[in-house]
Amino acid sequence: MALVTRKIAAWIPFDDPNMAENLRKLYALLRPKGLISFNCVLAKKNLSLTAVREHIAAKLGCPSEELPLSTEETALPHEEVGNSLMPHTAEDHATLLHTLFRDMTQGGAKQVLNVKDKLEDFFRSISQGRPMETLGLRCGMDREDTLAVDLKGNALTCQNGAASCGHKIGSVDDFDNIRLNTAWHWSKREECPNCPVLQLCKGSCMRLKAGLWRQACDTTFTYNLAVLAAGLHLLTGGGVLTEIEGGVMRRQGLPSVVPVIDPAWVS
Ligand code: SF4
Repeated sequence: MALVTRKIAAWIPFDDPNMAENLRKLYALLRPKGLISFNCVLAKKNLSLTAVREHIAAKLGCPSEELPLSTEETALPHEEVGNSLMPHTAEDHATLLHTLFRDMTQGGAKQVLNVKDKLEDFFRSISQGRPMETLGLRCGMDREDTLAVDLKGNALTCQNGAASCGHKIGSVDDFDNIRLNTAWHWSKREECPNCPVLQLCKGSCMRLKAGLWRQACDTTFTYNLAVLAAGLHLLTGGGVLTEIEGGVMRRQGLPSVVPVIDPAWVS
């Protein structure tokens, strides 16, 4: 028996002609039935949803506007590699913000499945005057009817956590003693109740803490500022959100005025 290993990080399926052909056939078969979609994570050097969509569509030989694409938004600091892919500097954040805004207002990003859902949810929040107390977490893992379980029966903080990394919160064999105690609801964070994008972000990642949590919050703040600005742009027929002014903006010590879209950058 021979064991074949492959370096996943270096493996790009569309670079393999056989694999690319199989993917094209699979797409042609499943797309009409609505049984295939693509998912992407934005990284520091790959921030454009429009570019991701066009790249995959070109490889599949289909029009980009028909490609079903979702996004998990930006990389988060769950591990070293995620951290290295996130925006860190003010310039990184400005590029993320403006690229997303441009893609959502001028490119095809507002058709990306969960961008569209998020914009519609934002419009609903305005029309319903939705109070923040009714908001659950973005991932849904705070719902009473939701539990992540691995194949050994370990109950986990969430589907992205591993039992071996401190995320075991019990076992299905002892169901009554499962306790979700390795996560924080947004309402327990210092920042979220004072955040202008809470209705869009819903608390970033519930299982991060301390410095990693603050990094995740900063990045999801930038992502959701872009969605807020794009939503207002669409609602007002072209208005540009240039800054937000408040008292405490997320956490003490952060500026009380947040610059948003720089019209010069957009034009
Ligand atoms: S951006 Fe940060 S403060 Fe605002 S809702 Fe998201 S996690 Fe909370």
